[in-house]
Amino acid sequence: MTALRAGGASDVGQIRAVNQDSMRVGPRIFVVADGMGGHQGGEVASAMAVEAFDGGEQLATVTVNEIVSRVQEANELVFERSAQDPALSGMGTTLVAIALVVADGEDRLAIVNVGDSRAYRLTGGQLEQISDDHSLVGDMVRDGRITKDQAREHPQKNIVTRAVGIDRQIEVDDFQLLPRTGDRYLLCSDGLTDEVTDDDIAGVLRTIDDPDAAAQALVDMANQHGGRDNVTVLIVDVVDDGDLAAAASAAVPDADTFSHDEASDTATFLAVPDDQAHRQSSTPHDRQPERPPDPAAPTKRQRAVTWRSVLFVAVVAGLVGGGLWLANDYATNTYYVAIEEGEVSIFKGRPGGVLWLDPSLEESTGIDADDVPAEFLDDIEDERTFATLERARTFVANVDDRITELEPPPTTTTTTTTTTTTTTSTP
Ligand code: MG
Repeated sequence: MTALRAGGASDVGQIRAVNQDSMRVGPRIFVVADGMGGHQGGEVASAMAVEAFDGGEQLATVTVNEIVSRVQEANELVFERSAQDPALSGMGTTLVAIALVVADGEDRLAIVNVGDSRAYRLTGGQLEQISDDHSLVGDMVRDGRITKDQAREHPQKNIVTRAVGIDRQIEVDDFQLLPRTGDRYLLCSDGLTDEVTDDDIAGVLRTIDDPDAAAQALVDMANQHGGRDNVTVLIVDVVDDGDLAAAASAAVPDADTFSHDEASDTATFLAVPDDQAHRQSSTPHDRQPERPPDPAAPTKRQRAVTWRSVLFVAVVAGLVGGGLWLANDYATNTYYVAIEEGEVSIFKGRPGGVLWLDPSLEESTGIDADDVPAEFLDDIEDERTFATLERARTFVANVDDRITELEPPPTTTTTTTTTTTTTTSTP
């Protein structure tokens, strides 16, 4: 029998007037929702999403499908309410939940996620994010275009690509993990992760045992770092796994050929139900030990293509188009001075070009390369850039002035006219 304990804390933060986050603390279903939308919309959406799980714990057994269904019910309720009440139009909410469920007669921890609120797991002292952020910057981090630290400060960090209540259809990430004694799970809104690094979060989770106290310490840390958003933290500890993890470990063939941690991870993934089995990339025998299966790889459900999806694609296309425009502007709206066929010349564009945009000769200056004074050579050889043509011309004018200064002073030449008198003698 699995035993959990949990604690949470939520705060409006240092800047916002209202706390639009909501949470639900157990005993078997734990939820964090971060509402969005003007007026009261965000508060209402996140509260409705959390309330959709009420009554779930009265069921004799809860399955992961039950949890996913609750998220879909929450989506329909928020969507309908938003459509009926103009004051709440367009409201939505993220949702991340962890629930003690039953699969094949055994306890599992089910995690479901929509949006950019996160689930983490601290296991063996190591913290790992186990949910995917459904956000523009989340996609950029997964693609390797920016780092997690850069994402934290990115101007578009708040744009989510999925939320509860925005569309009639919703795609929910869901996956299951074996409960393991000593593992600690964290659910949080982005008000925590935008302010506090994963390392600092891990430090608190490792040192403060009481889940309420640890959650409050993390909320305090977010506020100390600026508290720019509502912040909600919910911690769930597995205090007893009923020897489930140990039994699963014992069932792993050749487990002793792996290090302790790898064997444990393998056990975790071997034990998930058949419908999750594709998440285990291969058997322990041919699996590369240095590339363990990703515990957070979500199970994809149906993807709904609707006008909102189309609109989202259009927005992304607009961003790409904007990016191309920016690239074009960056590549062409600059000047530099270089030597072209022995002559100092001004070019439009970036030295070497950008993408398919090559620089072009803007104007020749008539200055011979051999005449350029030494102090200007570095700037020319380094192809120093100028924001405007005028600045490039000023640079060239300075070169020209210096050449003139360095020219030897003009010598005054005196022309002597000799008058020759020719005497003609007459015989
Ligand atoms: Mg937030």
